[in-house]
Amino acid sequence: MSQQTTIRKLAALVNTPVEKLLEQLAEAGMPFSNPDQVVTSTEKVKLLGFLRRTHGKADKPVEDAASPKKITLNRSRKQEITVGGGKNRQTVDVVVRKKVTLVKPSDKADPVPAAAVQAGDEDAERAEILRKLEESRQRNLSEQQRLAEEDRKRAEEAAERKRKEEEEAERLRREAAAAAATAASGEDAAARRPAHAHAHPKPAAPARDDRQKGKPHRGSHAMVSGVEDDDSTARFAGQLHLSAADRARRSTARGRPKPRRNLEQSRGGSGGPHGFERPTAPVVREVAIGEAITVADLAQKLAMKGGDVVKALFKMGVMATITQTIDHDTAVLVVEELGHKAVRADADDAESELIAHVADVQGEQVARPPVVTIMGHVDHGKTSLLDYIRRTKVAGGEAGGITQHIGAYHVETPKGVISFLDTPGHAAFTSMRARGAKLTDIVVLVVAADDGVMPQTVEAIQHARAAKVPLIVAINKIDKSDADPNRIKNELLEHEVVAEDFGGDTQMVELSAKTGDGVDDLLDAISLQAEVLELRAVADGRATGTVIESSLDKGRGPVATVLVQQGALNRGDYLVCGVQYGRVRALFDENGKPVDKAGPSIPVQVLGLSGVPDAGDDFVVVDDERLAKEVAQQRETKRRETRLVQAAGNRMEDIMAQMGQAEQQLSLNLVVKADVQGSVEALRQALTALSNDQIRINIIVSGVGGITESDANSAAAAKATIIGFNVRADASARKVIEANGLDLRYFSIIYDVIDQVKQVASGILGTEIREEIIGTAEVRDVFRSSKFGAVAGCMVVEGVVKRNKPIRVLRDNTVVFEGELESLRRFKENVDEVRVNTECGIGVKAYNDVKVGDQIECFERIEVQRTL
Ligand code: GDP
Repeated sequence: MSQQTTIRKLAALVNTPVEKLLEQLAEAGMPFSNPDQVVTSTEKVKLLGFLRRTHGKADKPVEDAASPKKITLNRSRKQEITVGGGKNRQTVDVVVRKKVTLVKPSDKADPVPAAAVQAGDEDAERAEILRKLEESRQRNLSEQQRLAEEDRKRAEEAAERKRKEEEEAERLRREAAAAAATAASGEDAAARRPAHAHAHPKPAAPARDDRQKGKPHRGSHAMVSGVEDDDSTARFAGQLHLSAADRARRSTARGRPKPRRNLEQSRGGSGGPHGFERPTAPVVREVAIGEAITVADLAQKLAMKGGDVVKALFKMGVMATITQTIDHDTAVLVVEELGHKAVRADADDAESELIAHVADVQGEQVARPPVVTIMGHVDHGKTSLLDYIRRTKVAGGEAGGITQHIGAYHVETPKGVISFLDTPGHAAFTSMRARGAKLTDIVVLVVAADDGVMPQTVEAIQHARAAKVPLIVAINKIDKSDADPNRIKNELLEHEVVAEDFGGDTQMVELSAKTGDGVDDLLDAISLQAEVLELRAVADGRATGTVIESSLDKGRGPVATVLVQQGALNRGDYLVCGVQYGRVRALFDENGKPVDKAGPSIPVQVLGLSGVPDAGDDFVVVDDERLAKEVAQQRETKRRETRLVQAAGNRMEDIMAQMGQAEQQLSLNLVVKADVQGSVEALRQALTALSNDQIRINIIVSGVGGITESDANSAAAAKATIIGFNVRADASARKVIEANGLDLRYFSIIYDVIDQVKQVASGILGTEIREEIIGTAEVRDVFRSSKFGAVAGCMVVEGVVKRNKPIRVLRDNTVVFEGELESLRRFKENVDEVRVNTECGIGVKAYNDVKVGDQIECFERIEVQRTL
């Protein structure tokens, strides 16, 4: 033995506590009391034997500590060596396997005894090796833990990435569907695009690939055992079952990229905790549908191909292309057919926010001025009356000067302010009412004292009644010599409009719009009526109201005359107005004077809107531009949807007309341009209302402003008649009109437009042939004559029978013969005609079967002009 080894030294070498080594030696039957005692080779061998027995290991190296020879241990070598000397000499097999099982945790106890059998340098060498192995094992362990932790994080990241990928794919799918909608043919693109997106590795993926490059790979069972130390696959450790996506990714990492399968797998079947799970039941989507929706939009909402929705519609008997719009009900049916759920798109979020906004401004109600509309028959003096009041009463208005036409004005009377709506009569009133705008508090019915109650007078009464607005009758033109106010009152009685002096409750004021007599009385009557009505409104706070007129001014942009109904409209306010919005840049009163604010019942011109609103649109002041814009946009969408439905309806009509009717409906196309929006609306309504079974009046273009070249071109394309109401065609438009021989007509009275359109329409309708029975004769006797055959002795019972007109023979009210007369005689004399209650003889050409009791009907064919 070349070197003395103490217990302490041995313990240090094998990296075991001294106490433990002492214990093990004691257990092996070699009690030591002092760690500084020397352990002999024999003792070491004995300890090895003991430990081997204890742990059931048979392959421990054995050496003869007592042998003076130096034993060289080779790796994995089996040697026969002799230990001890003299009698104690013995031979043992020594197998050296340095690598072996020591790395295994279960072999943890072995290094000590294995080392313990060594002596001297060999001991040290072996112990050193063991220590290093142990260290490496420890390192591996901690590395595994670190990797497991990293894996966990990566799995989470992957799940997050996956979620984002799916979102992205969904977005692309939607885009593709939209693209398909515009391209109509590109349905497949909707499906291809997301696939494409999937097939492309995300930016993070190449990084993973880099990490894995050139590293050894172990089978997945190794990962299961938890001793995975391979970097490339370690990120999957901790996941007992890899998701299909991860497997796919790993296969990509191994250099076998299979994007297509990757896509399917990542879509389809991951069992990972964060992975996309294949739906076990069909996904039922809740789809919000408004008034109408295009097939493409619906497909997108259902996350389906446009073509599939088209197919589903087809199965339901609805023919629609991907770009077409289907109405709400059809959309709901197809959605349910496809197994999804349809809900009504209550997209009025912004709208309800607006309502809440408006409800917010409940302030104190104060008395407000009445708003008056003047109605009556044409030429009874409505305009004259409005003009007279404006001229003489509008505060600040220049006497005799030209006041601006802004659709309304207000006057200050000793009894308070009154606002007058200066709109073109009944049509505007009804169209406003039809749109839900209740602007008018009082109707002043103008009846000319020299004319009496006329059709439009009655119409006005009906309108006022329908709107539940009280009437005040202005009996006009009392300056005229033939004026008879009492006759008017009597005539109105028939329509249940009873004057106060007749015991009724309708105020009637006699006046002259020409001289101004009685006009103050009318204003008093209005104020009185207003008091009775107790009209109230919030004077402060955010304003709401209605658009009366609107136009597009070249210099000032969109201009709207609004009537404030609640609150006060200020310069600088944000407002939403129909489908328009904006900030009040300037306010003008009826004299064109700038004002800073307008309170309830006051009409005011507003500048600063995004576009021209429609007459009858409401306006609401809001706190900020965002809400104004949102509401306006939402309304625009809604309006578009509704229009689409109407357009679809029209298309349907077209088809029906083409299919069902042999005689096609004629149509009259019109281009209608007017000075103000109110007139446009009124004309639209009045003219389209002329449509009937025979002819359809189509207004192809309408709007505010002069007739432009583009209007003329539209008219030329549609062979339309152009109507200019208080507007004229510009030079370039006139050229187009002349070149195309278009029909252009100017008007300033709405009723004239209607009359002329009726005439034009009649011209288009042309004439028709009508039969008119002019006389009937009864057969009282029948004579046979060799010369004339059968001759019927008749009595003309109705009208007149004429020789040169066609006849029909009727028996029991049924036609038995149609032909012409051969002879018409009276007392043997040939006559041209025989009148009622006169006897005559009638011979019918080529007909001899005439019998007593038959009727001979004489008729003529006349050409009549077809009219509306
Ligand atoms: P509208 O069609 O109802 O607007 O009627 P207008 O105001 O245009 O009047 C028609 C015609 O009646 C015009 O020639 C007016 O000058 C005339 N007129 C209106 N009011 C009076 C009146 O009080 N007295 C007389 N003598 N003529 C009047």
